[in-house]
Amino acid sequence: MSILVTGGAGYIGSHAVQRLLRDGHKVVAVDNLFRGHAEAIDLLKEKAGGRLTFVAADVGDRALMAQLMAEHGVKTVLHFAALAYVGESVTQPLRYYRNNTAASLSLIEACDEARVEKLVFSSTCASYGEPSREFIPIPETCPQSPINPYGWSKLHTERMFMDYATEAARAGRPFALARLRYFNVAGSDRTGLIGEHHEPETHLIPVCLQVVLGQREALTVFGTDYPTPDGTCIRDYVHVEDLVDAHVAVMNALKPGDQRAYNLGIGRGYSVRQIIESVKRVTGKDFAVKHGPRRPGDPPELFADPRKIKSELNWSASITDLDEIVSSAWRWFQKHPTGYSR
Ligand code: UDP
Repeated sequence: MSILVTGGAGYIGSHAVQRLLRDGHKVVAVDNLFRGHAEAIDLLKEKAGGRLTFVAADVGDRALMAQLMAEHGVKTVLHFAALAYVGESVTQPLRYYRNNTAASLSLIEACDEARVEKLVFSSTCASYGEPSREFIPIPETCPQSPINPYGWSKLHTERMFMDYATEAARAGRPFALARLRYFNVAGSDRTGLIGEHHEPETHLIPVCLQVVLGQREALTVFGTDYPTPDGTCIRDYVHVEDLVDAHVAVMNALKPGDQRAYNLGIGRGYSVRQIIESVKRVTGKDFAVKHGPRRPGDPPELFADPRKIKSELNWSASITDLDEIVSSAWRWFQKHPTGYSR
């Protein structure tokens, strides 16, 4: 019996594959390699002792997914595969609905055909849009009202999966669903084997590290006039290993008929300036920082209220020291300054 990981060659998916293998599972990883990295899979395979099968395919290929699920006795699916750039989703909304929402529809149909029993879905805090002050820190009960197509593509998928789960429960079929809403996932595997490599890279911590490495001239701070203590945006940076650990906790806890939703964050926000200071401390290097205008669609403050998953599953992030999160990213970037590219 294998666990199917979609997006298994991507940043978060590859860390999930690594963890599942470490826990002794057999894994089938699927990735269309559009933004995922075959090199990550190669590295993981070396340590997998034959327990990792990789298939380069699109999650939207319903027949192939159903066939893989049947062949490998898949009863649990962790669904990471997605496009995840907010800006790109604004200019290419249909691509996001095709790749994220429509492909997820095909996937749940395949799950239905193969009688999959547990589905853990990567959703996003972007589904909350711009929460009003009373919902900061953000609980799962915060109204979901996305402000960009990326957030909508995920929220529509949440809805589809919920409707399927409700019907499965009514019909007495064993099925359980978890929707996990990520905050800002950061850092890399602390053994240094795999890491974060996005093309293009837009995320704050890696961009700062690329400036430190001389690959970019300066970091531009997107807005210094936000209504926050230092004028820059505040986000909740959760370490990728912790994020994956939460998936394992949720996956193990799911019982037939369950429909669960959890926010995954550390429950504390850091400003862009605090991140810059941390990168300077960790790398021991000063680097060029410019001030620019706000980036459209960036809410001033987003951080999780992590109490629900703590009280229900006793899970909380273990790596909450910002410098430790940044250090793990720095270790990877130093060893792989151009990511997986040779
Ligand atoms: N940010 C920035 N300069 C950059 C990249 C990001 O000032 O070059 C800010 C961005 O405006 C946001 C925070 O850093 O407030 C985190 O952005 P990121 O793109 O890493 O993640 P997001 O919050 O968009 O998911």
